[in-house]
Amino acid sequence: MLTDSELAVAKRVKGFMPDDEGLALHEAGLLGGLVGPLLEIGSYCGKSGVYLGAAARDCSTVLFTIDHHRGSEENQAGWEHHDTDVVDPLTGRMDTLPYFRRTIESAGLEASVIAVIGDSPTVGAAWQTPVGFLFIDGGHAEEVAMADYEIWAKHLLPGGVLAIHDCFEDPADGGQAPFLVWQRAVKDGYVPLGTTGSLRTLRKPS
Ligand code: SAH
Ligand code: MG
Repeated sequence: MLTDSELAVAKRVKGFMPDDEGLALHEAGLLGGLVGPLLEIGSYCGKSGVYLGAAARDCSTVLFTIDHHRGSEENQAGWEHHDTDVVDPLTGRMDTLPYFRRTIESAGLEASVIAVIGDSPTVGAAWQTPVGFLFIDGGHAEEVAMADYEIWAKHLLPGGVLAIHDCFEDPADGGQAPFLVWQRAVKDGYVPLGTTGSLRTLRKPS
C-alpha cells in the first residue's frame, strides 16, 4: 500500500499524473511486480515514480526508471507543457534530475527506485533484464512512442503488465501516439485490463 506520506509527496510534486491515474498505476505496478521488476520510460520529476516505487517496494523488487532528463519536445520552451523552473540557468537546457532525486528522497523510496539516465532507445539496445511491468510515458511523438513499445515490450515477461499513459481515443482530447501504441499492443495479443482516465493497462499473454 502507498503510505499517507508517499501519497502526499506524489500529489505535491511536479508532473503529469492525475491522482486517480496514479493510484491505478500503483495497482497495475503491484500486479506486474509479482512477475518481475518494474520499468518506466519517462521519469520526469518522479511523480509516477512514487506510485510505482511504492508498488516495487511492496513486491520486494525495484523500479528502473529511464529518462535523459532533458524533456520531451512538448516540454521545451514555447510548448504547452513547458515549466521554466526545470531549466538549468547555467546552460538554458532542461534538467529534471534534481527534482526527480528530491521527490524520491522525500518519499523515502531511494532503496526501491533506480534512475537510469539516458536516451530510451540507447539504453534499450543494451538492456538484458526481463521485467514484469512496463510503463510507457516517454516522448509522445508517434515514432518515439512506437519505438519505445518495440524496444521495451520484448523485455516484458509473459504474464507481465504493460501500462500506457496519455491514451486518447478522440483526437480532440489529445495526441494519438499512445493510443496507437495501445491498439498495436492489442493487435499483438495483449489483453486489456483496464482504463483510468488516459491510463490503459494490458496483460502480456503467458
Ligand atoms: N511520468 C512522468 C511524466 C513523464 S514526461 C510523471 O509522472 O510526471 C515525459 C518524459 O520523457 C520527460 O521527462 C522526457 O525527458 C522523457 N523522454 C522523452 N523522450 C525520451 C527519450 N528518448 N529517452 C529518455 N527519456 C525521454
Ligand atoms: Mg504522461
